[in-house]
Amino acid sequence: MHDTHLFKSIISYLESQENKTSRKIKKVHICLSEFGSLKRDHFLEHYSQAVCGTRWESLEVVISTIPFGSELEITGLEFERINGG
Ligand SMILES: [Zn+2]
Repeated sequence: MHDTHLFKSIISYLESQENKTSRKIKKVHICLSEFGSLKRDHFLEHYSQAVCGTRWESLEVVISTIPFGSELEITGLEFERINGG
């Protein structure tokens, strides 16, 4: 369960961004380091466990990899459009 804390942090970050903007997040962009310990498939495995049964289950996740840099970085959030906008 080495990554549990990490995934809790991601979710609480998303929640804080929703509260701050009063908008729902529909997509999150995540960047993983190619040489980090957390590979794409491994990330997704934990991610799907972390969101299972929560309202984040339907969130779209886009993962890209970079050769150097932080092991994991949230590089972008996409919010649902406000009705009529
Ligand atoms: Zn793991």
